[in-house]
Amino acid sequence: MESTQEVLFRLSQGQLNLLQTCPRKFQQIYLDKLSSPTNPEQLERQNWGSRFHLLMQQRELGLPVESLVQEDAQLHRWVTALVDAAPEILISNPKTFRQSEHCRTLNFEGYLLTVIYDLFIEDTQSAQILDWKTYPQPKNRRWLEKDWQTRLYLYILAETSDYLPEQISMTYWFVQSQPQPESLKFTYNAVQHEQTKRDLTELLTQLTNYLQRYQQAEDFPQVPETANRCPDCNFAIRCQRDRNFSNTSHLTSEENFSHQDWLPNLAKIQEVSL
Ligand code: SF4
Repeated sequence: MESTQEVLFRLSQGQLNLLQTCPRKFQQIYLDKLSSPTNPEQLERQNWGSRFHLLMQQRELGLPVESLVQEDAQLHRWVTALVDAAPEILISNPKTFRQSEHCRTLNFEGYLLTVIYDLFIEDTQSAQILDWKTYPQPKNRRWLEKDWQTRLYLYILAETSDYLPEQISMTYWFVQSQPQPESLKFTYNAVQHEQTKRDLTELLTQLTNYLQRYQQAEDFPQVPETANRCPDCNFAIRCQRDRNFSNTSHLTSEENFSHQDWLPNLAKIQEVSL
């Protein structure tokens, strides 16, 4: 098997969030390849979000969108409302460069950090990252400020461009907000940039340690029970954190295996999709 040191792992913001929330969950999903079931409601929301992103991408490329909006009147309404609410960002300006699904990568501590901006707009003075959200605007702005999506997206842009952190911003658009779409903008500065660098270094150093121990058949640590994340987690039974199960005697042999049985999957983590 390839050593963890020899593999350049590709990591997205979602994986960083998961790693920070519960390292064991990260292990079970990305190393052990145990999928957690998606309920029909989640699936419908994901499908709707994918269609919205596809439509916005086609629109940005100047491709026809009629067939997409004809199938879904609600989708058409949200896009029209977004264009009305934010004409300055959705109508092309010849003085700016703009690109949808703009991808950047950064080699950091042996990991390939990867971001995809829904829309990227830059001119000589500033650069903006725009992201479409198909869930309601969170009440607490701090929640998004601390999220690795905000932090990583801004960090990578500063690291891979000539812009100063102060010239960069990221704006989320909540397209389903009523009566019209709402936005939350995050500016950036050198102090935040240094803090993100420190936090990223710490998190990825931890990951390297966990991976090395995983190769020696040691599981990633579980989130403390006091964090109260386990009752809603799909892995609660496997982790013996389900209140209704005090031991694993009820598990089938397939569910009760050691993670050593899954070690070959370690070499595949770099192929995890974003
Ligand atoms: S049940 Fe708890 S410890 Fe296990 S993966 Fe879920 S959050 Fe982590």
